[in-house]
Amino acid sequence: MAPERRQVHRFRIARLARDPVPAFTAAAMTTIVGGTVVTPDGAVEADVVIDGSRLAEVAKGARRVGEVIDAAGCFVLPGGVDPHCHLMDDFRAATRAALSGGTTTVLSYTNPASGESDLDGFRRRVAELESGAFVDVGLHAMVFDPEHIAGGDLRAFRQGGAAAFKLFLSYRELGIECSTKRLVELMRLATETDLTVQVHCENGAMIEALVEDAVSRRQTGVRPFVETRPAETEEEAVAQSLAAASLTRATCYLVHLSSRRAVEQVRLARRREPRDSHGSPRSPRPARFLAEVCLHHLVFDDGVYDGPAADRYLVAPPLRSPDDVEALWEALSDGTIDTVGSDHSQRPTPLPRELSEPDRRLYYGLAGVGARLPVLLSEGLARSLPLERLVEVSAAAPARIFGLYPRKGALAPGSDADLVIWDPAGETLVTERSFDDGTGDSIYRGRLLRGRVRDVLVHGLRLVADGELVREEPIGRFVSSSAGRLG
Ligand SMILES: [Zn+2]
Repeated sequence: MAPERRQVHRFRIARLARDPVPAFTAAAMTTIVGGTVVTPDGAVEADVVIDGSRLAEVAKGARRVGEVIDAAGCFVLPGGVDPHCHLMDDFRAATRAALSGGTTTVLSYTNPASGESDLDGFRRRVAELESGAFVDVGLHAMVFDPEHIAGGDLRAFRQGGAAAFKLFLSYRELGIECSTKRLVELMRLATETDLTVQVHCENGAMIEALVEDAVSRRQTGVRPFVETRPAETEEEAVAQSLAAASLTRATCYLVHLSSRRAVEQVRLARRREPRDSHGSPRSPRPARFLAEVCLHHLVFDDGVYDGPAADRYLVAPPLRSPDDVEALWEALSDGTIDTVGSDHSQRPTPLPRELSEPDRRLYYGLAGVGARLPVLLSEGLARSLPLERLVEVSAAAPARIFGLYPRKGALAPGSDADLVIWDPAGETLVTERSFDDGTGDSIYRGRLLRGRVRDVLVHGLRLVADGELVREEPIGRFVSSSAGRLG
């Protein structure tokens, strides 16, 4: 989605959290018995022993201690880690939805206000996360002012626990577009700072030319919004980002790739990295090219823009052709795409003024933090992706890439006791009440999913039992990107 610069009337700038993973004392012990546990080494029949807020043991026939939860017939999965959310101001409702859908860690973008520096915007969000979230939240720092952000700011992001920072190659109209020159300069600084650079890949200049042409023909509304952001604009921006990363040896994470053209660029860049005769990168510090897809691009195609409620599906980049959808699933299956996010937008963005319909305000940006994991499991298994691969892209890989692994995204001794008991024999009909995030709409409504999120534990506490939220405890905290190590 596009960011929005909004005036914040009242905010605090507080200290950066020093120990961002709280030692949560859920004094009780719990044993989950009889399930198939998806561990980093594969799926095994095992029991899981939880001591307080941490996993103590994963073993067959473990000694039963404390409360016993029967998971017979179910899979026990690490709680989902959503790498891409825009929680905006309402992180309470959005993280509640995440919890009910089995996502126990959310990585959200900051939203610096007008007149607020990108660094102050980051610090404000860290402070706001000290209470009220239902699951743990990590932060990616938005860079809305790429011309003025400096190396010191990037170091402060890193020291403050940011998981990454994000640049935009479009949205000149919002004043946040990053030039090619700054892209290279900021990637170089990111390499020096050891921070991951995220890039929103749409070429703003190309879009601007297409929009001017559409406006000259008096086109407004859904179709011109979609048609002025074609896959070529994404392909170009992806190629530019990968080239810049290659020049600077940056770790570059491309958000919400949506087209065959985009994933082909990622494959090409990876193939071209110089390798020795053993297939290892020749450079001691090679560039890394990481790619994300978001759920809606896997589940819907642009046919919905011909339907009766076309504006409900507005998002940037827009939904693509059925061939692009197939390409994204292939890329998810063969490893070209590393992660699946929701791009959950708690508050949608108005269409650019020149494309707005005169009598009707249209918005873009989709909600989906709650639906992400259950929909992905259902659709992915229907397409014969292994459950282990689906867990990798929806939990383990996001945690690993953003410095949270194996504390998050893994079921191993010492990991946080954030887990999901998922019943493959169950069904889930997505209704207004499912994964209620307070946005009032879900494009996933009406879908019948294979499987059911039965129980969800966060920090060792069972907050969802038999599909119902049973404890209204906002125990989530800010989680720093350096918090992944166990100990
Ligand atoms: Zn987004």
